[in-house]
Amino acid sequence: MLNKLNKALNPKEWDLVIVDQDETHYYQPGFLFLPFGIYQKEDVEKPKINFFPKNARFIVSGIEQIVPDENKVLLENGEALEYTFLIIATGTEIRPDEIEGLNGDLWHKKIFDFYTIEGALALANFFQTWEGGKLVLNIAEMPIKCPVAPLEFLFLADDYFKKRNMRDKVDITLVTPLDAAFTKPIAAHELGNFMQEKGINIVTDFSIGRVENEENKIISWDEQEVEFDLLVSVPTNMGIEAIARSNMGDELNFIPTNKHTLQSDGWENVFVIGDATNLSSSKAGSVAHFQADILFDNLLSAIDGKPLEASFDGHANCFIESGDGKGLLIDFNYETEPLPGKFPIPGVGPFSLLKESRMNHLGKMGFRWFYWNMLIKGKNLPMDPHMTMTGKYVPETEHA
Ligand SMILES: Cc1cc2nc3c(=O)[nH]c(=O)nc-3n(C[C@H](O)[C@H](O)[C@H](O)COP(=O)(O)OP(=O)(O)OC[C@H]3O[C@@H](n4cnc5c(N)ncnc54)[C@H](O)[C@@H]3O)c2cc1C
Repeated sequence: MLNKLNKALNPKEWDLVIVDQDETHYYQPGFLFLPFGIYQKEDVEKPKINFFPKNARFIVSGIEQIVPDENKVLLENGEALEYTFLIIATGTEIRPDEIEGLNGDLWHKKIFDFYTIEGALALANFFQTWEGGKLVLNIAEMPIKCPVAPLEFLFLADDYFKKRNMRDKVDITLVTPLDAAFTKPIAAHELGNFMQEKGINIVTDFSIGRVENEENKIISWDEQEVEFDLLVSVPTNMGIEAIARSNMGDELNFIPTNKHTLQSDGWENVFVIGDATNLSSSKAGSVAHFQADILFDNLLSAIDGKPLEASFDGHANCFIESGDGKGLLIDFNYETEPLPGKFPIPGVGPFSLLKESRMNHLGKMGFRWFYWNMLIKGKNLPMDPHMTMTGKYVPETEHA
């Protein structure tokens, strides 16, 4: 947004200010590959300053509180910033402290996350010497960012242990609060089949209540128990605490946002993008990217006092690593669930939707270059932010 706005706004009239607590930008999709040694730390991090326009002011500080009724942001460094328009893009963070016992004695010893750089690197280290046992991946509750990442983790784990000739020593189980492998029925069916083919077990409708560190067990609210030797946890995902302190969020600190215009429900000059919203679209980088095109148009309209006519349709797409050098691609929006077909050119692809292919894997691995060099630089891409049905078809027998 900063790069886009820098090109569009007159620097004599506008001051662009960006605040972030962290000087390093992380390519979070790359965290998936760290535990398996496919990426190293240096592949997924770069200084944020490399990507900011020279005209903008970059303040490295945490946000203490937003006071939207006074158009102010109070920073941890003591500064108070006044704004004409505010874009909130504070994302989501994992909160292991929300589950009793999750970040207890076993945290980063036998229990790991891979949604943070620290967690993913600690798990990579653990895998070096692990001799096998029960690997349980638990999703604490929905929504989580990148809802396919846990499945990708399991597919890559299957592949990793096969290549190390120890797959027979590792029992892999997904323990999920959902009633299937994924939220959307057609994709859930396909992904469930993959899990079965790879010998990955699934425990559904499991709502975690606590972790017994001494007994190596996770226990649900209705007292179901699952034992683990290694627990890979996707803890509760929440918006940041500063949103709660500002009284701007829901019970998970996500900000009520208009699903089409991306204007906050509470304040006309506050807009929200990415994982920080309360929207039902996926919490994914692709979503933040498509939203940026919409938000850019609407913000310029708001500046000109015009109606907000650009409309976000919930568009998301995501490559899914399925292991063994293959992957899938899904493309969907608020109304249309992921469907099979070809993308972006009907009948040709080169990517296949909801079907494993080597090309999809190459797309996933090539994406990192595209991310660092095109996406976060805010370059204009010949890609419609809206989803299209072109190349997709509705399978006849599913849902039966
Ligand atoms: C393992 C994993 C795999 C993923 N795979 C994919 C994928 O394949 N495809 C895909 O599309 N998406 C994927 N994602 C999701 C994607 O990374 C996020 O959806 C995306 O980064 C969201 O962007 P955002 O700008 O909303 O939030 P973020 O990128 O999380 O940025 C939030 C920013 O806010 C800053 N911040 C937070 N709190 C404060 C504070 N108090 N004060 C100041 N600054 C603060 C942070 O430092 C950060 O820079 C994956 C995520 C993970 C964890």
